[in-house]
Amino acid sequence: MDCLFCSIINGDIPSSKVYEDEYCYAFKDINPMAPVHILVVPKVHIASADEITAENSVYIAKIFEAVPKIAADAGLTNGYRLVSNCGPDADQSVLHLHVHILGGKKLSARLD
Ligand code: AMP
Ligand code: ZN
Repeated sequence: MDCLFCSIINGDIPSSKVYEDEYCYAFKDINPMAPVHILVVPKVHIASADEITAENSVYIAKIFEAVPKIAADAGLTNGYRLVSNCGPDADQSVLHLHVHILGGKKLSARLD
């Protein structure tokens, strides 16, 4: 299957890794929307939040377990935003579930 984030996880496409464990991989977003912009992805192909099931949800739990460590390592001591775009109305552009960690400044409350 041709998936950008699967290729990043298996090393076929380079990335700026910031964290990795058995369940998830985190790397810097190539087009940052904030001073800190990190993507965290499950190490199995889950297309989006719509594809989360009882069988694969451990990967989602592990992403959220990793987030505080990743945020602390990135120096996000004053908070951060987590975003996971799902489907066309949210402009999901890579069909491998990912959680954006955004921070490093006071973020706007606007969603569009
Ligand atoms: P989304 O629009 O929520 O699907 O987010 C996809 C994100 O992936 C965007 O913020 C892109 O900037 C980011 N992205 C795309 N290609 C790469 C890449 N090769 N390395 C790092 N981030 C990427
Ligand atoms: Zn994938």
